[in-house]
Amino acid sequence: MKPRLVPCPACGTPAAFSPENPYRPFCSARCRTEDLAGWAEERYRIPGSDSANEDPNGN
Ligand SMILES: [Zn+2]
Repeated sequence: MKPRLVPCPACGTPAAFSPENPYRPFCSARCRTEDLAGWAEERYRIPGSDSANEDPNGN
């Protein structure tokens, strides 16, 4: 039985969707980590925190 190939959500590389690929549906640990980090970053971003960081006298 051939493993099904799915495009890695992070980079688009065909990744084996099988128990042999512990990172499925990603192609590698790096892609999985980057994707999770991206989600975490979105979650941690609080609306308004960016403007609060801008000091008008700081520049
Ligand atoms: Zn990838």
